[in-house]
Amino acid sequence: MKLETRVAVIGGGVVGCSVLYHLTKLGWSDVMLLERSELTSGSTWHAAGGFHTLNGDTNMAALQGYTIRLYKELEEITGMSCGLHHVGGVTLADNQDRFDMLLAERAKHRFMGLETEIVGPEEIKKIAPITNTDGIIGALYDPLDGHLDPSGTTHAYAKAARMGGATIETHCMVRETNQRPDGTWDVVTDKGTIHAEHVVNAGGLWAREVGAMAGIYFPLHPMEHQYLVTDSIPQIEAIIDAGGEHPHVMDPAGESYLRQEGRGLCIGFYEQPCKPWAVDGTPWEFGHELLPDDYDKITDSIEFAYKRFPVLAEAGVKSVIHGPFTFAPDGNPLVGPVPGVRNYWSACGVMAGFSQGGGVGLTLAQWMIEGEPERDVFAMDVARFGDWISPGYTRPKVIENYQKRFSVAYPNEELPAARPNRTTPMYDIFSDLGAVWGQQYGLEVPNYFAQGDEPSYETPSFRRSDAFDATGREVRAVRSAVGINEVHNFGKYRITGHSARDWLDRIMAGRIPKPGRVSLTPMLSAKGKLIGDFTVSCLKEGEFHLTASYGSQAFHMRWFLQHQENGVHVENISDRLNGFQIAGPNAAQALSACTRDDISDLRFLDVRRMTVGMTDCIVQRVSYTGDLGYEIYCDPMAQRQLWWTLWQAGQSHGMVPFGMRAMMSLRLDKFFGSWMQEFSPDYTAAETGLDRFISFSKNTDFIGRSAAEKDRAQGPTRKLVAFEVDANDADVNAYEPIWLDGVVVGFCTSGGYSHYAEKSVALGFLPVDRVTDGLEVEIEILGQMRKARVISEPLFDADGARMRG
Ligand SMILES: Cc1cc2nc3c(=O)[nH]c(=O)nc-3n(C[C@H](O)[C@H](O)[C@H](O)COP(=O)(O)OP(=O)(O)OC[C@H]3O[C@@H](n4cnc5c(N)ncnc54)[C@H](O)[C@@H]3O)c2cc1C
Repeated sequence: MKLETRVAVIGGGVVGCSVLYHLTKLGWSDVMLLERSELTSGSTWHAAGGFHTLNGDTNMAALQGYTIRLYKELEEITGMSCGLHHVGGVTLADNQDRFDMLLAERAKHRFMGLETEIVGPEEIKKIAPITNTDGIIGALYDPLDGHLDPSGTTHAYAKAARMGGATIETHCMVRETNQRPDGTWDVVTDKGTIHAEHVVNAGGLWAREVGAMAGIYFPLHPMEHQYLVTDSIPQIEAIIDAGGEHPHVMDPAGESYLRQEGRGLCIGFYEQPCKPWAVDGTPWEFGHELLPDDYDKITDSIEFAYKRFPVLAEAGVKSVIHGPFTFAPDGNPLVGPVPGVRNYWSACGVMAGFSQGGGVGLTLAQWMIEGEPERDVFAMDVARFGDWISPGYTRPKVIENYQKRFSVAYPNEELPAARPNRTTPMYDIFSDLGAVWGQQYGLEVPNYFAQGDEPSYETPSFRRSDAFDATGREVRAVRSAVGINEVHNFGKYRITGHSARDWLDRIMAGRIPKPGRVSLTPMLSAKGKLIGDFTVSCLKEGEFHLTASYGSQAFHMRWFLQHQENGVHVENISDRLNGFQIAGPNAAQALSACTRDDISDLRFLDVRRMTVGMTDCIVQRVSYTGDLGYEIYCDPMAQRQLWWTLWQAGQSHGMVPFGMRAMMSLRLDKFFGSWMQEFSPDYTAAETGLDRFISFSKNTDFIGRSAAEKDRAQGPTRKLVAFEVDANDADVNAYEPIWLDGVVVGFCTSGGYSHYAEKSVALGFLPVDRVTDGLEVEIEILGQMRKARVISEPLFDADGARMRG
């Protein structure tokens, strides 16, 4: 066995083999895979082999599309069969909400180049004749849906990898992974110790155990899962005899997926009484075996299936496949460089290996070889969970995700499992004020504050929700008096040291402020993609505070630590610094009433230490509401005291608490972009307009400079613009197609209702050569074409007089 390799991939399931193949495809041949038994010995061998593109996250859907198209390529390269059946599939909708979700998915597919279509009950009957369409409104038909042979496909990946120079060592159990001081790894196996530059954890069912060898906790959990294969069914035989094949049918109401298997059918369930498996760890001796049949937990599901597919009631059961596979808390894979652990890569938590495995392999290989993936993959980035996550949180979240696998996913939905988890000192005070809570990165965040008859639970919806009136009330209070909100959901970083300024100048594309000042700056990847949107405050020379998205803490810290230099100390202080923001025309009077400091000379983008009430604070004049506003930071131990000071003083100035729903409406008035919506690694600074914050004149070779300069010289081909939309009861959410002259020319990034301007607003990309003020377009919202026009003048404070004045 070879004992030196560039990459050691641990695990020979479909995911490990895909990673190995993609590493060779992108040019690394000195790579090896270590499998403790035979290939496919985890979840892979007993999978139903189904694949589909449908995924709530657009980039995940694109990667699923890539995976499915890859199989033909694999067959051609290797001459092996993946056992492909491209039979197409329908996803049924039995109520308006489910249908709305399918309409929204169909709309996204238009600009992704996926040829899905909405079909009615009559067409469903023709496509999938064994379906009882009583109560069905319609379905989404996807011609790409199909199934394959799991073992054949995994071996095809393996053969293609070997053809590219990779080595595969089976019956080679990894016992330890020990890091050397230079960052490389000793991978201790039963057959000897391999020295590898990089380690990839593709341990599937054992990914938790493999991670623990390096002291890493991976937030995933195995769940039991069951599908049945029937004996021959006359109606299916008739289809086969006529030269056809029955397509897939996903029936979310019955939480089932169904396809033809031989001359019968195969049906699997995501049942509500589901069971987590191997809670305290996956036994090493588990291998090519199944779990005992468990009809009890799928009795209700089977009864429902008999109604939807009456032929099943007459069919005998040929076999039951009951096995475990792993899920992350949100059901998406865990992929990428593990934060804080050099040269250790994750390719685990893949719950749909045959829909996603190819995309996971491609993404990881690009990241390892080219330094970054080609698109925004945050939805499956291992860094989307922080170090606050624990097995106690993961398990209930995974159970919830399994149970909601086929549920309608609403844009405003707040999932209840494992909550409240992380709270600030304000939790009970805000609850008493009517806070209706949401969740970000494990943290409870008020969405709005219900008053009087306003609902204390926001009903999930694709349309304007029942929080609409409360949100409008809060927005109007901010614009006419003063609103107060916590700053707990900002990611916050403290950068100190004699080289702090030089380092920031290299890491950030924008200007780094002088002492006492604040600046806004994008952070770019080497390829010029947006990887951060930061506010930088210089408290004094050698001491800076940064704020950015709360949910991107592990993502940003990973980047900072990868680029750390001597003379700079970087700390994540997101939960060690808290406080409030106040915004609105009365904000200055409210703050003045709480401090002996003179704030009349505190200019827009100034930062200053001052005592507010009894509390030493850092106060900076900036507000994402686009209004006159202040962010007031303090030690969380003093936060309740600071609250009472501000709240009592604020009463005579009309102060009201406001939540994230109001914040998102307020920022739309000024067309301010939002991280992971307008600003993400899918876009460049020039495309989004953030290039106005790049300092091309600074004498530093900041990361991404040459790409940004090229982008500026060539000019982007698309541009982020704002629209006023003639919406009715549903506003833009994200990824709605933008039509011009009957053709899709762009897509929306986010939108909502401006309660201040009483207009529906959207942000989205258009080809640069089509952008003109007032341009009339159509935006497809939930299957309806809504007229919209480009607007360039902000709806509030267009000249910035209030914000800056
Ligand atoms: C009943 C059922 C039906 C399913 N149906 C579908 C479907 O229709 N479509 C779909 O896309 N997905 C389906 N899945 C899910 C699918 O099986 C998984 O997504 C996929 O198999 C995950 O592959 P993996 O490579 O990540 O993990 P695994 O298949 O678990 O592979 C991990 C490998 O790592 C090896 N390993 C672990 N630790 C070590 C070590 N220390 N040293 C060496 N080797 C090690 C193991 O032996 C194993 O071979 C189904 C799952 C089940 C249970």
